[in-house]
Amino acid sequence: MASTLVTCIGLLSTQAEMGEVHDAALVIDGDRIAWVGRSGSAPPTDGRVDVQGRAVLPGFVDSHAHLVFAGDRAGEFAARMSGSAYSAGGIRSTVAATRSASDEALRANVSRLVHELIRSGSTTFEIKSGYGLTTQDEERSLRIAAEFTPETTYLGAHVVPPEYADNAAGYVDLVTGEMLEACAPHARWVDVFCDRGAFDADQARAILSAGIGAGLAPRVHANQLQHGPGVQVAVEVGAASADHCTHLDDRDVAALADSSTVATLLPGAEFSTRSPYPDARRLIDAGVTVALATDCNPGSSYTTSMPFCIAVAVREMRMTPAEAIRAATRGGAAALRREDIGRIEVGGRADLVVLDAPDPVHLAYRPGVDLIHQVWRSGALARKADHREP
Ligand SMILES: [Zn+2]
Repeated sequence: MASTLVTCIGLLSTQAEMGEVHDAALVIDGDRIAWVGRSGSAPPTDGRVDVQGRAVLPGFVDSHAHLVFAGDRAGEFAARMSGSAYSAGGIRSTVAATRSASDEALRANVSRLVHELIRSGSTTFEIKSGYGLTTQDEERSLRIAAEFTPETTYLGAHVVPPEYADNAAGYVDLVTGEMLEACAPHARWVDVFCDRGAFDADQARAILSAGIGAGLAPRVHANQLQHGPGVQVAVEVGAASADHCTHLDDRDVAALADSSTVATLLPGAEFSTRSPYPDARRLIDAGVTVALATDCNPGSSYTTSMPFCIAVAVREMRMTPAEAIRAATRGGAAALRREDIGRIEVGGRADLVVLDAPDPVHLAYRPGVDLIHQVWRSGALARKADHREP
């Protein structure tokens, strides 16, 4: 396999032991990083790419996305921005559209969103099911998701579908029984929406422990809409991540700090529901590992842009630019329990973002501007510079 030298990197943000390196270079060999150092001391390689002083950072790790669905909810968004409240029940309209869509239509929609993700610098992304809510529709959602990523999450427990409205216990039986059995072969993770209008603590425990029994690793939608038991359940089952963490008390923060559960913050959701943001400062100061992710979904956060999430996290959640960038790279990797991504170091996967800027701070400093010059994914150029060279 050919080796490539990426050189004349103005500022390399490794998110690894080397920290930041000025006037840096690195060598890609196959799908891996083979060398990292100063431009002047690079070893010989087959090819060479000069990035002309641009900043380079690890590809973003989007550890929370719902990409298998049909239709959109632009009307609901407009109504909300005119004063209607958000509730978990809106998910049901996407469920109806998803059930009636063909496999081809669902696959084409995932492909379109994955293309957007990669263009905006995400080189690893998680995909959840959760808009099928029948055995057959959850199974096909995960089968399609697995065509795009190994980080697939079984979210049969997104909400109770309308046909089980009066029989939530029956739905939990389905999610922990026949549906789990059909979905587990296509999933790495099991997730549950433990919140108002979704599942309570006992239901969440039952769903997560059944998933663990089927070989899946747990993660939890927790404390988004109100304070509830989600974070405690997540820590109790050893979840890789508790996602949202918007409404926390001191006990929740302490439990997260004492655990290996990552707090994954999803500012796109608060942005799109005009809700108060999670208190990232409090979590970071308590020593909790924090990740940022898009929560891409058609109802409450229809963005695929990690740069957007970084900018919002800095402006609205009082994260420093360095903290937000770390949360979007190494933090996301921790939320997926991955050590080969989210950082730039020898032996790691060659996932890079080359910015049209001299410093990653520009991701928050220049909000809404597409600063992605190139994206390297597993050592291959996944997005080429598509604009005028200086
Ligand atoms: Zn979500």
